[in-house]
Amino acid sequence: MEISTSPFAALGLSEVILKSLDGLPYSQPTPIQEQAIPAVLFGKDVLGIAQTGSGKTVAYALPILQRFLDEQWPMENRHVPILVLVPTRELAIQVEAVFQELNFGIEKVKIGAVFGGVSINPQMIGMQGVQVLIATPGRLLDLIGSKAVHLGSVKVLVLDEADRMLDLGFKEEMDRLLALMPRKRQNLLFSATLNKAVDEITQLVLHKPEVIQVTDEPQDVVLIKQRAFRVTEERKGPYLRYLIKSMDMQQVLVFTASGHSADHVAEKLNRNGIDAAATHGKKSNHARQQALADFKTGKLRVLVATDLLSRGIDIELLPYVINYELPRSPKDYIHRIGRTGRAQNTGEAISIITPEDQHHFKVIQKKMKQWVTLEGTDDVDLTGF
Ligand code: AMP
Repeated sequence: MEISTSPFAALGLSEVILKSLDGLPYSQPTPIQEQAIPAVLFGKDVLGIAQTGSGKTVAYALPILQRFLDEQWPMENRHVPILVLVPTRELAIQVEAVFQELNFGIEKVKIGAVFGGVSINPQMIGMQGVQVLIATPGRLLDLIGSKAVHLGSVKVLVLDEADRMLDLGFKEEMDRLLALMPRKRQNLLFSATLNKAVDEITQLVLHKPEVIQVTDEPQDVVLIKQRAFRVTEERKGPYLRYLIKSMDMQQVLVFTASGHSADHVAEKLNRNGIDAAATHGKKSNHARQQALADFKTGKLRVLVATDLLSRGIDIELLPYVINYELPRSPKDYIHRIGRTGRAQNTGEAISIITPEDQHHFKVIQKKMKQWVTLEGTDDVDLTGF
């Protein structure tokens, strides 16, 4: 028998599961994978303090799939054994993609994702035989209400981005869902931050968890090169176009503070010959997915987004993020710049700072314990931009 030399094999993953990694660009496990995979395989509850970009999805998906295949849990139709709860449809789609990617080499597991904002009927039909269900809480409750799915046989529950779930006010829905699950099950909870609300849910859900923290790994942030330019309010628009053109940025995510501003910036870019689309909470589900898909495949050069999208967007090798307007909280700043320089790739995060922003930018840097030199731009000739 051929013995696998993959570094993932050392974590206790079986040959079948290791096959699912064939053809994927994962040569080394990330720190969260190194720690979480053995614990999950062992059947332990896990509290993972890690954000999107750390490789956390693979960290739970791989060992869950292995447990599922090894233990051959009896399946009643419409009773899902594995449930992943996520706060947003974007994350649902992304997590589903990771499971599908891994399942490609296994081809045995039926994976489904459900979320609001789209018609429920196809989802009801699609629940038939689903073994791994990725869901946002509200839509899942609707599906349970219409008996399309049952939680009475859940063996493994994942709460992904639990902090975000609570921020968005899903506590009550989560409680209702938890009450429908059997008490004996494995629980994995992932959160980018720890706060009182997360702590409470941790106490409620997790039983003697293995605590794994990877957020403060300095090398993650070090990979992101940060720059900041001081620009007056009137020169901001032209300066953004100057940056994109002079640095020949072919794929850049631009953040604004509001949906209105995102629309405005995208429109201006388009008028100046730079292909851009805006995405934010007021856009339709379809428009958001389309814009993100076009951006990911490189069809769309600039995606202008609000903070709603700063978590959960996962784009491999995204080279540039620009803060056209600063976010209110330092946490959001970290989420924004974390869209680049992910999983060992270098990236550049650029902030455009007006004189009025300067104080707030200092506060953000202080919180991050990272200092970015503010570069002057007065001598840049913006005529023609
Ligand atoms: P996540 O934190 O789950 O959102 O994953 C972030 C990104 O890291 C995704 O694009 C994954 O495909 C990628 N990734 C996950 N595990 C690895 C790995 N071991 N090596 C390289 N990239 C990885």
